[in-house]
Amino acid sequence: MTDCKRIAVKIGSNVLTRADGTLDITRMSALVDQLAALHRSGVEVIVVTSGAVASGRSEMRKLSAPKHFDAVSARQLYSAVGQAKLINRYYELFRDHDIVCGQVLTTKENFATRQHYLNQKHCMEVMLDNGVIPIVNENDTVSVTELMFTDNDELSGLIASMMSADALIILSNIDGVYDDDPSLPTSKVITDIFPDSVLDSDSFIQAKKSSCGRGGMGTKYRISMKVADEGITVVIANGKRDNILPEVVSGSRKVPFTVFHATEKPVSSVKKWIAHSEGFAKGEIHVNEGAFAALTSSQASSLLPVGVTKVEGEFEKDDIVRIVAPDGKAFAIGRIGCDSESAAALAGKQGEKPLIHYDYLYID
Ligand code: GLU
Repeated sequence: MTDCKRIAVKIGSNVLTRADGTLDITRMSALVDQLAALHRSGVEVIVVTSGAVASGRSEMRKLSAPKHFDAVSARQLYSAVGQAKLINRYYELFRDHDIVCGQVLTTKENFATRQHYLNQKHCMEVMLDNGVIPIVNENDTVSVTELMFTDNDELSGLIASMMSADALIILSNIDGVYDDDPSLPTSKVITDIFPDSVLDSDSFIQAKKSSCGRGGMGTKYRISMKVADEGITVVIANGKRDNILPEVVSGSRKVPFTVFHATEKPVSSVKKWIAHSEGFAKGEIHVNEGAFAALTSSQASSLLPVGVTKVEGEFEKDDIVRIVAPDGKAFAIGRIGCDSESAAALAGKQGEKPLIHYDYLYID
């Protein structure tokens, strides 16, 4: 990884918090030292950090008469308080290295519309161009329930892909992907996963979630495979180990971690955006057998109005839509070239321009 020019580093809640739920400033400071060294060596660093909810929760516990909240109110309150505390810490710690960092808060909605996606990307490019380290987290104050990312692992994959990072390093409190239950003494960390590795992940991925964050090895594995498939190297490593970042970047392998080796195939940035946007689709386009066969064949085909049987939901031009087969299963997503009203009016018509051009289609 020594030749990487741009690296995204995701730091999980479990890395940044102590057993009692308070922010582990010593660990955070050690990680900032490592990130600062990476930055000084000329690498563009993007940090995706969790820990807002955990640090807000511990802060609010100090109050003498805590109120009882429902889960959503608690998350909103804790993240509002905790994010302020978290970013303040990062700011001060980076300032000790004469490095400026800035806060980027995002939501799932910001990845659903191309304009928001581009604005977000532009903001981070400007920051990097000016030597500022973006510190990204989900805006947990407004993203609740179905509007949420699965967890910050998903967010870090989207950010690494959006910013065309060379590598994504996911720091958790575990050494990597184990070949069996990590608590068994016989289990070992799988050090390398290649694009063509045939692994039955269900047999070794534990369903257990992290104790303070939302993630677990299940999403980490899924996201890592997807991001590696886009040509970005992914590493899952233990952020609680001293000097983990230089260990990973130098590839010394003195400590265990899992590397998901990237595929070589180039993927256009539009396709990457679409591939990651499954969960954000605004509507559905139902197609007939003919269109289904054409789209799933080995030839590059666009979605034509003639193959459309039904249009569901409300969307604008350039929004992401799901494409549904005659059996009711969604099999593709794409960026639509018109709004829902025009799409419905064109459905079934012959000789019209494609609703979704091949370049903007992602078939599962
Ligand atoms: N955004 C959440 C936080 O900062 C963390 C989400 C996760 O655990 O992945 O607290």
